[in-house]
Amino acid sequence: MKDIVPPPPIVHNQFETVRELFTRHVMPTYGRFDIALSHGAGSYVWDVSGRRYLDLGGGIAVCALGHANQEITQALISQSQKLVHVSNLYYSEPQGRLAQQITRHLSGGKVFFCNSGAEANEGLYKLARKYGHEEGRFEIITAHNSFHGRTLAGISATGQEKIKKGFEPLVAGFQHVPFNDIEALENAISPATVAVLIEGIQGEGGITPATAGYLLALRHLCDHKKLLLMMDGVQCGHFRTGRFQSFQRILEDDPLASGFQPDAISMAKSLGGGFPMGAFWVRGPHADLLGPGSHATTFGGTPLGCAVALKVLEVIERDRLDQNARVLGEWIKSELESLARHHPGVVRSARGMGLMLGLELCDKEQAPGFDRNEKSPALQFVNKLHEKGVLTIPSGNQIVRLLPPLNLSRHQAEEGIEIIAQTAQEFDV
Ligand SMILES: *Cc1c(COP(=O)(O)O)cnc(C)c1O
Repeated sequence: MKDIVPPPPIVHNQFETVRELFTRHVMPTYGRFDIALSHGAGSYVWDVSGRRYLDLGGGIAVCALGHANQEITQALISQSQKLVHVSNLYYSEPQGRLAQQITRHLSGGKVFFCNSGAEANEGLYKLARKYGHEEGRFEIITAHNSFHGRTLAGISATGQEKIKKGFEPLVAGFQHVPFNDIEALENAISPATVAVLIEGIQGEGGITPATAGYLLALRHLCDHKKLLLMMDGVQCGHFRTGRFQSFQRILEDDPLASGFQPDAISMAKSLGGGFPMGAFWVRGPHADLLGPGSHATTFGGTPLGCAVALKVLEVIERDRLDQNARVLGEWIKSELESLARHHPGVVRSARGMGLMLGLELCDKEQAPGFDRNEKSPALQFVNKLHEKGVLTIPSGNQIVRLLPPLNLSRHQAEEGIEIIAQTAQEFDV
């Protein structure tokens, strides 16, 4: 008798099902990885087939308390039972209290709430225009390799050609200069210049911190030329570096820096710990410049968003997650530096501070372990990490970013480092 071969089981591939939905119905604006995530807990996420990943990307520096955080869930539930949204035609306590908490970390000033990083930066552009309006000044100087968001003014402000391409004509009034180069900035100032906008640590540009000397010289120059010094803290802010804002960390050991303040700061990403929120802060003297009727957004600072953001801040401070970011970040960075020493043909350097770190890889020409016909070394490395169950964020061709939850544990960091080290080893041929 012939054996009856059972038919192969029908494997329902859930990833393909999800991808199919996207192919048909979602605009193809993102280059996505072949992973569909379904749920998370703390610093771990699971895909639709049940595979677990250690999330060292944190939703690109958003999930400050990790995934499915119980206290965030509780804050969402209890506030949503009271009031989810009110128009900004009325007062609501959570918004006032959140602004109070933010200004406490910046010794004064005032806050406007919005919904994203790009929108927070839009507020800064309008602040600058308003500030210079009577004198006909409107130009804002930003840095090469900066990133300020994808709105039309955002891509105009961003110092990366690939982001502007195809969307010209751009919004007028933005100039770009090399980062950390005070002379270049000074030379770019014209009678129309009104402000400077920089990130404390360039994120999308590949984890490049501003130097203390640059920040201090900028403050001096801006005072001298009556320019607003505006900082984009969307990615590097909210205790990721060990201090509330990255400039506070960069300048903390500098005796000349006491009293340093930018004139305005944009925030988003970690602010709501995953709830979409943005904000910008303005220093005392200019905090009332945008008066009634001059700026608004329907969803800005809703009771729900603010209750969540308040909870995120409360947990960060209660659990000293700023310290965790600093100490754990230092350890991870030293491990990444040791990879650069052990695999100089793969890893060039480690960059950044706190839990905003970058692993700089060698370029394809110098590193035989990377496939020349394949995508960038950063993508090859990130893809290999996916196979091993770790999520990270590529930046440009050479940088793999680590932007994990601020409550990442030492044990999880060790797990991540072990897999990153294995991966570096595998590319070291
Ligand atoms: C992500 C980011 C933005 C844009 O924020 P969105 O919420 O995506 O609009 C702006 N600036 C920096 C530095 C960022 O990292």
